Order: sequence, then structure tokens, then C-alpha cells
Amino acid sequence: MTRSATAQIAVAQSAVAQSAVAQSAVAQSAVARSAVARSATAQSAVAQSATAQSAVARSGAAQSATAQSAVAQSATPSAAALTPYDEALTRYDPVIGLETHVELGTVTKMFCGCPVEFGAEPNTRVCPVCLGLPGSLPVVNRSAVEYTIQIGLALHCSISRWCRFARKNYFYPDMPKNYQISQYDEPLCTDGWLDVTVDDPKTGSRVLRVEIERVHMEEDTGKSLHVGGADGRIHGAAYSLVDYNRAGIPLVEIVTKPASGTGALAPAVARAYVAELRDLMRALGVSDVRMEEGSLRCDVNTSLSPRGSAGWGTRTETKNVNSLRSVERAVRYEIQRQAAVLDRGARIVQETRHFHEDTGATTAGRSKEEAQDYRYFPEPDLVPIAPQREWVGQLRAALPELPAARRARLQAEWGLSDLDMAALRNAGALDLVVATVAAGARPADARKWWLGELSRLANEKGAELVQLAITPHEVARVAGLVASGALNDKLAKEVLAGVVAGAGTPDEVVAARGLAVVSDAGELAAVVDDAIEANPAVAAKVRAGKVAAAGALVGAVMKATRGQADATRARELILERLGQCG
Ligand SMILES: [Zn+2]
Repeated sequence: MTRSATAQIAVAQSAVAQSAVAQSAVAQSAVARSAVARSATAQSAVAQSATAQSAVARSGAAQSATAQSAVAQSATPSAAALTPYDEALTRYDPVIGLETHVELGTVTKMFCGCPVEFGAEPNTRVCPVCLGLPGSLPVVNRSAVEYTIQIGLALHCSISRWCRFARKNYFYPDMPKNYQISQYDEPLCTDGWLDVTVDDPKTGSRVLRVEIERVHMEEDTGKSLHVGGADGRIHGAAYSLVDYNRAGIPLVEIVTKPASGTGALAPAVARAYVAELRDLMRALGVSDVRMEEGSLRCDVNTSLSPRGSAGWGTRTETKNVNSLRSVERAVRYEIQRQAAVLDRGARIVQETRHFHEDTGATTAGRSKEEAQDYRYFPEPDLVPIAPQREWVGQLRAALPELPAARRARLQAEWGLSDLDMAALRNAGALDLVVATVAAGARPADARKWWLGELSRLANEKGAELVQLAITPHEVARVAGLVASGALNDKLAKEVLAGVVAGAGTPDEVVAARGLAVVSDAGELAAVVDDAIEANPAVAAKVRAGKVAAAGALVGAVMKATRGQADATRARELILERLGQCG
């Protein structure tokens, strides 16, 4: 199959080579610009298909809804339009659903041999297939199928014995074929689940099962860049540029079943689900799952139903939410907004919405298409996928340790409580601690430094732990210096801060700042003698047997050495000098 299809592509490539020089045709040129301009005209002509994010689409939404509520929806959001969160939950039950797109980390694209790379020069990672040029034919990337099966297995899904790709037809300038090759009624994986852990203020840590409806394969679109308008939207832009490097990158879409019964925890569950999914992808090694680069993108569905009613309310779909925090905020905002709409007797409009990072609000996008608008039909250029059971069995046997099992193992190995473990996870410190332990630190020390001083430094900078300029190996070195008595905790903090500030490795910071503990017998003895001489009354008490009073002398020694003395050794020396040893 592969060879003949490749041959066909080779023929196709030479055919199109004559008629077009691919890159210049799609480059950021007048050609691309005029194509976008034409598409804008086309959109207003075919407003029914409503695929645009423009004013055209918004007026379409207004038509399809009762006028007053639609107007209220698209108005600028304000605090007054929101029902307080706790109050909303006394009257409504939220139902959430998540559709997550993950870019697979394959070497080449889904249906052609173009390299998958982030950040390359625009329109330099393209070929006739991913540009949708006439005569080119797609060939399925075997690795992408393998990755998708691995994801399905890790999510406890059934793997189809036979399935097909489908064409999803819609027009958009960043989609060169005018259809996306996706899967429709025959996805590769179905009916799975993923357990997520959330902190319940009432009961502590709680595990909730999110049901997975399907996992299917598709290809990514290119990227449009709208120039000259406000906040990068097409509305008000002077012109638009299209970059097709991303077109054809393999995606999996993971769709949950509607999750109800989570109550006030709905936003936390949505966040925990995406976090768990991200960890799972990372463990499988199928994607780099960088939300900030868009390799994991999330559409969040939210609806409310009156408490105790059996039916579900109308849902909205907040598109392309790209951080864990935003997922949580988007659900929370939609609960409050929808409650306010329902409270005043209006209806929820089924539509897509945009999330705004700056305000935490969502605003109306386009009215939601129905599946029939996409005129799905089986992709005639690709053969069906029928994964052999032996292959699926091999992939199942080769699955790595999954995040939930790994956490359970580490928790047992390190003897941590649920609360300790939750603290590690929430701080994003788990992998850092694992790496620090691997570099030689004791688990308790690794936890102490990452959750203590280093978390404090990260907070100060408004950064994540993983972004701090210190490696697990360096943290292990500092822990080692403390364990050997060369540093005490106070000095260790200074060393950590120095390393984070870019002053060098732990040993370089210690040397440059003279931070080593004063434990040299002669030097320390002199300081101890000074302390005894300066505090005769205290010394007398200790001599008389009041050993506890020695603390004041240790304090004096620490003060004299600006915290650099080995306190344990100083105490021993003091008691020795005052006849209290043994
Ligand atoms: Zn290509």
C-alpha cells in the first residue's frame, strides 16, 4: 500500500511541479492576501454555513436566537451579568464536556512526508499533499495510528477492528483542501475513561471518573495571521497572512462524555482532567503537550440544568483554551454567566465562545454548526484502517507505567500521605523531586527544598518551579552539602537563591560568598570561648547543671558567625567547656 501510494504521490508531485511552484504560491504574498479577501466575500455570501469568526457569524447567531437574549449575550461582559458562583450552584447543576486536540510528536505529517516542526519559517514545511494541490494523494502515517492506539489503550478504550477516515467539509483559508481529513462515525478508539484527582474542600482528595466517548485521528489546519486589527482577530484587520506549515500535522481529538454530578467541583474537574491527560501523553511520549505552543488545545463545553431536573441545558463551547488555569476559569465563568441568563428567564444560545485571558470572561463567537453542515462522507483517497489484534496486543503490552500508577508507587516508596502527594502535584514538583532523588538526594530533602525555599523563590518571580534556573542535580548537590554538615539550612537557602539568580553552581556560590559552615575546631572553639566570656551569668547557670540555658550561648555563637557555625558542634563545645559533657 505504502509503496504504490508513494509512487502516486511522486507522479502527482511532478505533475503539479509544472503548474505551480508550491511555496511561492502560498507565501505571504499578494496572492494569499487576495485569496483571503475573496474568502471574506464568500463568507458573507454563504452566511448559512457560518464558519467565520466575524461579525457575519455573530449576526447569524442573533438571527437564530430570540432577539433579546442574543443581544444580551454578545454585549460586553460585566460583573453585573454574572450570578455569584456559590449562588449559581444552589439553583443549577453544571454539566461539562471536554474536546481536547493533541498534536502528535511524529517526525512527519499525517498524510505526507513533510517534517513536523514548531517555529519554522512560514510555508517552508509544505508539499503538494498538505497544500491540497490537485492530483496529490494522502498516505496514512503509521506512527500516528500507533500513537493513537496507545492513547486509546491508556484511556481504557476499545480499539476498532475496522475504521475509516472521513472528509469534514468546510471552507476556511487556512485549510487548503477545503475539507479536513478526520474521522466521523467510525473513530479508532471508543468508550474509555480517565480517573482524575481533585481537592474537595469538604472531603479532602477525591477521585472522579471522566468517561471518554471517543479518540479519533485528524489533521491540523494551517494558521491565519490577521494583521492590523485589534487582538489579532479578523474583524477590523487590514490584511491576513496564511502559514501552512501546521497544515497536515497529525492530531488526535479526545472527546469526553458529558460529565454531570460534579457540582461546585466542575471547574476543578475540568482542569484536573486536562492535567491528567497531559501527564498521560507525556508518559506515553506521543506529544510534547505544550499548551502554550498549542500542541494541546482544549474546547470546553458547559451547560446548566435546574437542580433536580432530569434534562440537560443548552451547552456552549468555549474554544481553544490554552492553559490549565484558563480551563478552570472558563468553566467557572460560563457557570456564572449562564446562571445569570437563566435567572432572568432568557435562553442559552448554543454557540462557540472565546475565552479572554486578561479578563477571564468569554464572549460570543459563532452559532454552532450541526454535524450535517459538514457533509461528512468517507474519505475516498484512503483505505480503511484495520489494526491487527496482534499489533494492538503488542502495543498494550509495551505501555509504560502510567501517571496514576506511578504516583501511587512513589507515594508508597516515599511514605507520603495523600495530602503530601497532592501538594507535590499541585506545585508541579513531582518530576523535579523524582529527578532530584535520582541525582542522589533523599526524598524528604528533595521535597523540602522544592516545596519550601524554591517554591518561595518561584512565587516571588511569578514563575513555575520548572522555570527556575536550577537543575534537580544542583538541588541534590545542595542537599548533599547540608547532609555532610558543610552547609546548614540557612546557608543552603542562600546557596539556592544564588544559583537561581545565576551566580553559578552550588559549589561556585559557596566558594564565592564564603558560605561554608564554620566547623573548624580551632576557629569554632575561639568563638565559643568569646561567647562564654561575654555571658558569665548564663555560663554559670550551665555550670550549675541548667543545660537548657546553653541555647543562649549557641545563639551568641551563631550571631557572631552570621549563621555560619555548625550549631550542633557549637553546642557540644559549649557543654564540654562548662563541664556538662556526658
Ligand atoms: Zn506535506
